[in-house]
Amino acid sequence: MSRLLVIGCGGVAQVAIKKCCQNSEVFTDICIASRTKEKCDRVADEVKAWYKGNIQTAKVDADNTDEVIAVIKSFSPDAVLNVALPYQDLTIMDACLACKVPYIDTANYEPEDTNDPAWREIYEKRCKDLGFSAYFDYSWQWDYMEKFKEAGTMALLGTGFDPGVTSVFTAYALKHYFDEIETIDIMDCNGGDHGYPFATNFNPEINLREVSAPGSYWEDGRWIEIPAMSIKSSYDFAEVGKKDMYLLHHEEIESLAKNIPGVKRIRFFMTFGQSYLTHMKCLENVGMLSTEPIMYEGREIVPIQFLKALLPDPASLGPRTVGKTNIGCIYTGKKDGKTRSIYIYNVCDHQECYKELGSQAISYTTGVPAMIGSMMVVTGAWSGEGVFNVEEFDPDPYMDALNKWGLPWVVEENPTPIVLE
Ligand code: NDP
Repeated sequence: MSRLLVIGCGGVAQVAIKKCCQNSEVFTDICIASRTKEKCDRVADEVKAWYKGNIQTAKVDADNTDEVIAVIKSFSPDAVLNVALPYQDLTIMDACLACKVPYIDTANYEPEDTNDPAWREIYEKRCKDLGFSAYFDYSWQWDYMEKFKEAGTMALLGTGFDPGVTSVFTAYALKHYFDEIETIDIMDCNGGDHGYPFATNFNPEINLREVSAPGSYWEDGRWIEIPAMSIKSSYDFAEVGKKDMYLLHHEEIESLAKNIPGVKRIRFFMTFGQSYLTHMKCLENVGMLSTEPIMYEGREIVPIQFLKALLPDPASLGPRTVGKTNIGCIYTGKKDGKTRSIYIYNVCDHQECYKELGSQAISYTTGVPAMIGSMMVVTGAWSGEGVFNVEEFDPDPYMDALNKWGLPWVVEENPTPIVLE
């Protein structure tokens, strides 16, 4: 019996909410609060026919801590799941602290305005000190450690697929397959086709910022940054086939480097087709990916936000997307003094997701782990005081839940290693 406040009602949130509704033994009361209340009402109406618990909705501007506090006070949740945008991570964490309620999210903090001088000063120091220049990093949220301890509650960071499941796979590999993990290669393959010339599978602004940034990886205790898309490989993914993939910076590298003792190298690869890359390069070249406001016919517009308005809504891709995703990690390391390599992955079918919940697989593979992470917190399977990443807890109950709630995984011994081109 538990009460969950879900903030945000986009592609990922809708899957997380519906999965919580399927899991009504755990989630007996749900409140969906977001910027556009009509979306929340629509989702609540959809599930009311079959959800055995109680569902309600609220309007909230999650950029405003006081508004979030008001919703928390009126609903009294056992936990708050933030599936709005990374821009709202800190305001929602502040509200959770004020109300001493656990906080859960799927993406680390990133500022909306990257020209804010106060933020930029800290960012530029971090770029110099740590050696990677992505706009997002964990330092902002890890800084809340003492505050969450003092409040006697917890924050669970990054329970999507990547970060999220990939980090839990790592904890599971370390617990059951290795004495020491030496290398981690995370591979995110989307073999889906939505039929549009160009669209992103989750929030376009967040997605395009991520993939147009320089890549980086962790090796021998330090970050190595490379120009965007300059390290390429290809891999023959189970149930998808051979795809080109590129090395990107990704947030779980940062937490795994901290939490996996002795790891020597961590890399993240994502598959992209040539057409996606050509579109992205063109948009970048003409300035459409810029986050800097410009004046247009007397009003200020942010190019990437305008682009978002032109692109298909990721939540609408479900009916048109066919094919599968394959996301997982290849590990090498030692067990009982011998070298070992394993690959843990999940394959997810876009159309199966659509049939079940009306969503495509990217929202599905993020929303299901968001529900599972919330379940770990509200049932007390994972507990603590402070700020935690998912790999810091016992992976077994989470791995069981993945099999039960729609994301079954496979362990393959001696996988084909990645060869760079
Ligand atoms: P969407 O853009 O589809 O949804 C975002 C939702 O947040 C919308 O409902 C939006 O409201 C709401 N929102 C935005 N700003 C505010 C605000 N100030 N106050 C209240 N609500 C607000 O995004 P996605 O569903 O694709 O992504 C959700 C999150 O999941 C993101 O943080 C993303 O980075 C993360 N993610 C994580 C992945 C992982 O594997 N870990 C993978 C994919 C995504 P409105 O409806 O009015 O626009």
